[in-house]
Amino acid sequence: MDGWILAFDFGGTKLSAALLPLAALSESQPTWTAQRRVFSPANGDARDDLQTMIRLGHELLAGRKATAVGVSFGGPVDAAAGMVRLSHHVPGWENAPLQALLAAEFAAPVRIDNDANTAALGEWRFGAGRGVADLLYITVSTGVGGGWVLNGRPWRGHQSMAGEIGHMVVDPGGPLCLCGKRGCVERLASGPYMAQDYNAQRPNADAPITGELVARLAAQGDETAVRILRRGAWALGVGIGNAANLMNPQLFVLGGGVTKSGELWWDVVRQTARATALPEVAVTIVPAALQDDAPLWGAVALAYRIYD
Ligand SMILES: [Zn+2]
Repeated sequence: MDGWILAFDFGGTKLSAALLPLAALSESQPTWTAQRRVFSPANGDARDDLQTMIRLGHELLAGRKATAVGVSFGGPVDAAAGMVRLSHHVPGWENAPLQALLAAEFAAPVRIDNDANTAALGEWRFGAGRGVADLLYITVSTGVGGGWVLNGRPWRGHQSMAGEIGHMVVDPGGPLCLCGKRGCVERLASGPYMAQDYNAQRPNADAPITGELVARLAAQGDETAVRILRRGAWALGVGIGNAANLMNPQLFVLGGGVTKSGELWWDVVRQTARATALPEVAVTIVPAALQDDAPLWGAVALAYRIYD
């Protein structure tokens, strides 16, 4: 099978591109022919990011022709229309026809989707979800996002908005989330919000801390950090248990920086999800295998199997 798949990952702060020969798709552990990752320019806009990505793509192809192009975008996407809705990190992406722009540039079919959906597809096709029919992928990082694969296909919902487990409300009287609601999973479980809550409860701490530090302090026995980390894991567990009751997927795959918070975090997520789901509903939760590369591998799957 001759040909090349070009994969792009427009992250909030990083731009990644990779090239894979079609023949590698039959391998159990395919590896990139070439991969590039650069930081998105500070104070840059959509035009800067797009020009950088186009340059990286042509550098990787080095005169070869792309058979298909897959794109993961860090923000809301209308996958059916091939349009980016907006970026929360980079200005100028409002209603950008990214699919058409790249199709014209590389003279190849292009498919785009948001990063949670592509990461779900990547883990399903190449990572922790290989061989299952249904999974919910959840990234727990600066935000909490999710993407479904159902019956071996991405499932995006009516408006490409399915999988938003981060804004499932688990504590209606809880703290205010950026989305305007209270007690969302993301408000309690994401790294920046856990750090914000720690800083608010420990105003005399030496310096403002990050989500990663909350996990490290919890491991050292800091009671405030333990309480905040447990609450975040509990919130995610409630969300997973409810999702299990609603959709009964075979597998939940968790990726993102917060999932590196240690055994306590994983235990609370699993126990809470188990306690929230009906006794008859199986809840299997595993760590992601591809981590930062999941959206790129998902972009390959998106490009290769032209999903509608
Ligand atoms: Zn929210």
